[in-house]
Amino acid sequence: MDTDVLIVGAGPTGLTLANELLLAGVSTVLADRLPQRSDLSRAGGVQPRTLEALDQRGLLEPLLATGEHPVGNGHFAGIPLPLGSDEHPLPWRSVPQVVIEGFFEEHLAAHGLRARRNHELAGLAQDGDGVTAAFADGTVLRCRYLVAADGAHSTVRSLLGAAFPGQAGTSTVVAADARLDGADAVLSHTWNEDGHWAALFPLGTDPQGRPLRRLVLGGPDHSLPREVPVTEEEVRRGLDTVFGTRVRLLGLRYARRITNASRQVAEYRHGRVFLAGDAAHVHLPLGAQGMNTGMQDAFNLGWKLGAAVQGWAPKDLLDTYHAERHPAGAAVLRNVRAQSLLMDWAGTRDPEVLAAREIFTDLTGLPEVRHRLAGLMSGMAVRYPMPGTEDHPLVGRPAPDLDLGPARVHELLRSGHGVLLDPAGAFARTAAPWSDRVERVDRVGQGVAAEPMLVRPDGYVCWAGAGDPVPALGHWFGEPR
Ligand SMILES: Cc1cc2nc3c(=O)[nH]c(=O)nc-3n(C[C@H](O)[C@H](O)[C@H](O)COP(=O)(O)OP(=O)(O)OC[C@H]3O[C@@H](n4cnc5c(N)ncnc54)[C@H](O)[C@@H]3O)c2cc1C
Repeated sequence: MDTDVLIVGAGPTGLTLANELLLAGVSTVLADRLPQRSDLSRAGGVQPRTLEALDQRGLLEPLLATGEHPVGNGHFAGIPLPLGSDEHPLPWRSVPQVVIEGFFEEHLAAHGLRARRNHELAGLAQDGDGVTAAFADGTVLRCRYLVAADGAHSTVRSLLGAAFPGQAGTSTVVAADARLDGADAVLSHTWNEDGHWAALFPLGTDPQGRPLRRLVLGGPDHSLPREVPVTEEEVRRGLDTVFGTRVRLLGLRYARRITNASRQVAEYRHGRVFLAGDAAHVHLPLGAQGMNTGMQDAFNLGWKLGAAVQGWAPKDLLDTYHAERHPAGAAVLRNVRAQSLLMDWAGTRDPEVLAAREIFTDLTGLPEVRHRLAGLMSGMAVRYPMPGTEDHPLVGRPAPDLDLGPARVHELLRSGHGVLLDPAGAFARTAAPWSDRVERVDRVGQGVAAEPMLVRPDGYVCWAGAGDPVPALGHWFGEPR
């Protein structure tokens, strides 16, 4: 073997996974066909669950220290979701994709892992022991596992002939990175009477340090074939149609047309090859979810591949990647489809759609509805199907970040190991055979109400409450030593 894991694609999914594998002590090659990282952002925002996962790796503070990353409010189909500060301790942040990619690249490089650039995967073959990957420049690499993080037009997906069911795009909108005057004064989504709409979000700064906005323009004038170039004139006209003279274009950095195609691979695992990120799911960028979902795929897969390479993975552990992440991806596609209908993405002004939106907007006045929608958009509502979910409300969900006194739960996860919270000190002998994979913690400050729980390296609770943790230790962390 040349390496344990080959990751194809150094976008946010591949970079996040590379970091997880680094933590798991697994040799990794990260290959990307581009000669250098793009300096254009597609994604502009990081959701609460991703912020949590970064905190669980000790990366949140340094990421946020890279610049101004304002907190934002959520929305569903452009309907603002004013969320109380109790909803998410780590609320949505504006962090452009280029900042995330640059941050991860530097962090990985500091630990000796650099993406191999100009490395385009062109062929692959797998057998019982590993995968042979062939690159366009003629080089060949043999690995135990290969992960496709090569984006929406995934080469790996095509080479596998993997089924990618869903809907083809039916209309387009313009997504532009622009410098604007007057944009601060408008709400994120604005519609006019004839079906034209605009959405505005912060997108960091351009290379000269000037504030950039992500501007999305939709409606009848903008639904053109993808290959039709977007002109400054079209963007100016689009702004004028929705805002009149309130918002002016100062400069256009980049613009593209995006479609409402929506697809998800039928299988996330093909033997020794795994699909993650946009290679596994594509949908409209509504509510800042694509990059976040890909990064969550990586957090889910990383420790499992680590366990397989280190030799302690229980028999079916790698299959749980599909079992857990396919439903999570399907839920994102579902909420995006509902949003695109409710926000009248195509600008039809269909009275039935407008009526549904009016009633839905009214419902978002209810705290319970806001809470449910916030859970969907933030990634916090994901609950993995695992044994014990019927017995305890925490099982399958992200671990609460309890402050135990000496440390917070998220801080305990920074080692990349599992954590067994043992406030009564009852499991010292029970857990000892797993001590190389699971850290048992009984240092709990006075007055801290913490119940026993077992947390996987990706931060999800896999056992909690009364009873014996041994079955769960065996189920997730393999044979005792
Ligand atoms: C306008 C727009 C706005 C968006 N806004 C948001 C947002 O706010 N929040 C959010 O979460 N998401 C957003 N998204 C979605 C987000 O950008 C993507 O989901 C994200 O980039 C997916 O990351 P990835 O690493 O899976 O794939 P990519 O970022 O596409 O990376 C794939 C990498 O693989 C490489 N590659 C491809 N083929 C090969 C090959 N054969 N060999 C080697 N390398 C290869 C590519 O060069 C690339 O570097 C937005 C998307 C768009 C278009």
